Amino acid sequence: MTSPVLLITGASSGIGRATARLFAEKGYRVFGTSRRPEATAAISGVEFVALDVRDEASVKACTAQVLERAGRIDVLVNNAGYAMVGAVDETSPDEAQALFDTNVLGMLRMVRALLPTMHKQRSGRIVNTSSVLGFLPAPFKGAYASSKHAVEGLSESLDHEVRGFGIRVVLVQPNFTKAELGDNAVSVAASIEAYGLLKQRVSVATGKAMKAAPGPETVAAEILRAAEESYQMRRPVGSG
Ligand code: NDP
Repeated sequence: MTSPVLLITGASSGIGRATARLFAEKGYRVFGTSRRPEATAAISGVEFVALDVRDEASVKACTAQVLERAGRIDVLVNNAGYAMVGAVDETSPDEAQALFDTNVLGMLRMVRALLPTMHKQRSGRIVNTSSVLGFLPAPFKGAYASSKHAVEGLSESLDHEVRGFGIRVVLVQPNFTKAELGDNAVSVAASIEAYGLLKQRVSVATGKAMKAAPGPETVAAEILRAAEESYQMRRPVGSG
């Protein structure tokens, strides 16, 4: 039997890297993406492909390459994304637009490129990385939280459109995870205690004190479950 095929965006670090490694260990044929695949540390069993989700031509080239090499797509994990920290009134529309271009429209571009193949196969699972901020708005995370709320709306709408054709869409909603996202976050404010305030807010909203952040391996394990186990629209990770 041939191995199931996974394409995961943003596999060069953090959650994406841990997820690519886990699926490879589980016997998938794994294609992982990075904007700089040649500079990305190799993972055994993962074929790195160049991708910038902001660029339509790059999305088409990446997905065409995967389909040419593997002939099918079983799981698409839309993981590429970045965070933005700052007060709403300090966030410029240009900064917010750039964030949405990656976090939301990047996902849309990937779906548009691969859904025709999943339709032909009459099978496929799309796992979209949201966040706890996809369902909780939070101070100093207005742009990021609204991008993840958009991810949730897009994903649930899409699931309704494709579920009759053997395809399902799942949202994975990680809490703060020990990964590079914090280091890579774009800060639009000079100096704020955004993370502290945010953690307080999440604790109040979930009624639980925040435990130590889960590692990327914990989120990776949930993404694997989202791809393989019986259907569940939302899969929170580490929110209490
Ligand atoms: P990292 O910063 O470690 O990884 C981000 C990944 O996204 C990298 O592999 C990067 O690849 C890729 N990426 C960024 N921009 C683009 C782009 N324009 N085109 C293609 N790839 C891109 O972050 P995390 O692992 O922490 O985050 C992964 C996902 O999880 C994100 O969607 C994030 O919003 C979500 N998340 C993270 C949480 C956390 O606390 N860490 C909590 C909740 C959700 P490269 O630079 O090589 O191109």
